[in-house]
Amino acid sequence: MAGNFYQIRCADCENEQVAFGKASTEIHCAVCGTTLATPTGGDAEFHCEVIETVERRPSEAQV
Ligand SMILES: [Zn+2]
Repeated sequence: MAGNFYQIRCADCENEQVAFGKASTEIHCAVCGTTLATPTGGDAEFHCEVIETVERRPSEAQV
């Protein structure tokens, strides 16, 4: 297991995007730039709504 991905939603502009659960850098909203998650050394700490867990990368969904 390489870690999960999470479908998250920006609290400011409601943009939805997928973020890696063990992100090693800050994750910013692709639309407004708000910080959505910060690295902790383990699972990232999310500062936004986590809609669901995505167990596989979207691009690998049919593998
Ligand atoms: Zn945003």
